[in-house]
Amino acid sequence: PNRIHEVIDRYVDATPDRLALIDDKTSLTYRELDRSAGSVVRALQALGIRAGDRMMIVSENCIPLACLLLAASRLDAWAIVVNPRLSPREIDQIRDHSGARRAFFTADVSQEAVDHATRYGAPVQDVGPLHGIGVTALNEETSAEPVEFDGSHQVAVLIYTSGTTGTPKGVMLTHRNLLFSARGTAGWRKMTSADVQYCVLPISHIVGISLLTMTLMFGGTVRLVAKYDPAALVKAMADEGITILNGVPATYQRLLEYRRNAGLPKFDRGALRLIAVAGAPLDLELKSRVEQELGLPLLNGYGITECSPGISGVRPDSPRADHAVGTVLPGLEAKLVARNGKTVANGEVGELHVRGPNVMRGYYRAPDLTAKAIDADGWFNTGDLARFEGDCLYIVGRTKEMIIRSGFNVYPAEIEAVLSTHDAVVQCAVVGRPVEGNEEVVAFVQLIKGSKATAQDLMAHVAPQLTSYKRPSEIILLDALPATSTGKILKHKLAESLRGQG
Ligand code: ATP
Repeated sequence: PNRIHEVIDRYVDATPDRLALIDDKTSLTYRELDRSAGSVVRALQALGIRAGDRMMIVSENCIPLACLLLAASRLDAWAIVVNPRLSPREIDQIRDHSGARRAFFTADVSQEAVDHATRYGAPVQDVGPLHGIGVTALNEETSAEPVEFDGSHQVAVLIYTSGTTGTPKGVMLTHRNLLFSARGTAGWRKMTSADVQYCVLPISHIVGISLLTMTLMFGGTVRLVAKYDPAALVKAMADEGITILNGVPATYQRLLEYRRNAGLPKFDRGALRLIAVAGAPLDLELKSRVEQELGLPLLNGYGITECSPGISGVRPDSPRADHAVGTVLPGLEAKLVARNGKTVANGEVGELHVRGPNVMRGYYRAPDLTAKAIDADGWFNTGDLARFEGDCLYIVGRTKEMIIRSGFNVYPAEIEAVLSTHDAVVQCAVVGRPVEGNEEVVAFVQLIKGSKATAQDLMAHVAPQLTSYKRPSEIILLDALPATSTGKILKHKLAESLRGQG
């Protein structure tokens, strides 16, 4: 396949009756998915969508969303899938920046999407076979982007990053970008048509799109879940033949918490054969508890929206006990660069740069940002600090988040890992506080509800485990940490709250 909608083509003929998609309400076989996508294409054309147009789709994971995505691809339109849990302000920002021509809202999946549809005055209608879709015209004057002769280089999706470090950026990913990353990850996982992949990570995020694409590419089944509910996951594992589970660390944390609170003696993992985690630093204690309770190695993977997202992953045939993020995707080049621009030696920390077919086209309408991120030779700077041990990659932290205290480099992830070993800590985030000519280490911590632990207790817990310059100057307890809809902590908000205090 050259384009994302083409991944289903061979199964429409070979295994037409195999289930392609299951959501919370219904399911579609490969034949039905093909027909639905075809009817949606005609409906979109009738609504005025042309090749090169941007289509904003505000939806949780569900079959109508997948059909709209495949139909957009068939039409050479750019899909912008937006998480309904974003605020009105954030959604308006995406609308304005993208110049989308039409917006679509799934109006019978979640209240949030309904609220946005109402705010946009989008009347609910049928889009071909899809019922209950709010549709509204955003911009009749919008210009369509030029369509490339070679369709694989055409932009398939425009993804606005969650902005854990600042303002959202529109990442342009081509069909080739998405297919390369999906194929590489699926290859490691040895995916086949027998796989049923649990897709609870939002399709509005690159990981959700990748899970959808890689499963269909191998003729398997995607179980689309609109909202994460650990109880529903436990039931699906036991009853629905789920073979692969993917999550961010918080997905697993909530799963274990649910088992404990519900008093379940143990998980019935059914057909589950592979569990994977990505998206944020993995706490080793969480990793080992998950492995004990689910009886499978938890495979850590590392990626970034700009790389569609695959960069590296731990392979099921060589699981790891530490927080390594595995080996780099075959066909992708990687190098670590020191501040002076030189490549660093094995074992040393440097900024990770990658080059390959999954590196984005660029940031939409932001050539300067693109030029800063991708150099003239095609190397993309991930902004992450990493080191290699042999061919195994370790993420040490983000360049932007590194704290320089009295000339020493402090990596927040290391301090967060130590804080997390305290029983009362649910989550924490470490940021720098600028003070004259220096930076201090400040930790924000959310404790288990009802915990009596104090900042002093936590300080006493971490002090013996950290050399003095790494010890927090202050530990601030909060009821909750600001987070994105995928559960990533918004560190820039925490850093802002410290500004001017130094
Ligand atoms: P923005 O780029 O606007 O800050 P974001 O942080 O949500 O948004 P994503 O592309 O969603 O951007 O996240 C990619 C980042 O997540 C990586 O650069 C890396 O810092 C972090 N990350 C992803 N996987 C892992 C992992 N397995 N271990 C540690 N960090 C990870």
